[in-house]
Amino acid sequence: MEKMNDLRDLLKHEIADLHSAEEQIINAMPSMIENASDPNLKQSLERHLRITEQQLKRIEQIHTKLEGKKQEKQGLWSRLTQHSHECKGMKGIIDEGEKLMREDMDPDVKDAAIIASCQKIEHYEICGYGTAKAYAEELNLSDIVEALSKTLNEEYEADLLLSDLAENRVNKEAEGKSTSRGSRTTTSRERVRSEEYEMEMATNSRSNKGNARGESDQSRGSRSSAADKKTSSKGRGASTSSSKGSASRNPRGNTRNSSNGRNR
Ligand code: FE
Ligand code: FE
Ligand code: ZN
Repeated sequence: MEKMNDLRDLLKHEIADLHSAEEQIINAMPSMIENASDPNLKQSLERHLRITEQQLKRIEQIHTKLEGKKQEKQGLWSRLTQHSHECKGMKGIIDEGEKLMREDMDPDVKDAAIIASCQKIEHYEICGYGTAKAYAEELNLSDIVEALSKTLNEEYEADLLLSDLAENRVNKEAEGKSTSRGSRTTTSRERVRSEEYEMEMATNSRSNKGNARGESDQSRGSRSSAADKKTSSKGRGASTSSSKGSASRNPRGNTRNSSNGRNR
């Protein structure tokens, strides 16, 4: 790969990575759909596959936009090599999921395993799209920000839907009839998290419409592991000089990764 000199180059790299990720997801999903037993799960996966096909087109449009005139000047060879980047992260997640699906499993357990793999996929995507969006915001590429936000919100929605399916049906079924109920102590906390999540999604889509820089930053960065408290979303508005450490609390993407491209 050519030398990366600035944030725009890094954005291009992130877009190539996401392109590869989406392609791999499209290839992997049919077998997940086939392996799923729960009709709701099957349906959700089918739906997300169609959405993913649109996302791939969207990322191709972004790629073309970013390359612009430069691409016309370049030869066929460099255009081909630019597209050859393989997202190893997604490959690993998918390989692991496929390996798990080949295990001998009760259908209900397999459904739970499929949801787990899918959510790992979604979280990786949310991270990648969040990062790319933050770069595009920094670079004032508003139409690219808008396109990335659209996909990002779709991934959030897919993730939420999978959580709901798992918590309300599939995990319970996989738990088995012999196990006593009522042993889940985390439900209310999870419910709170999911409400926060929905609020943030709503904020996200509102700010997408206005497309104002900074606004949407408040909606990101606060979703963390189950045990993590929501502490970081306040005071993280349009100001770009966020504290270090906030990035480490956020598994979902760059967002306030203030060191990147900023200290040139
Ligand atoms: Fe996707
Ligand atoms: Fe990757
Ligand atoms: Zn997805």
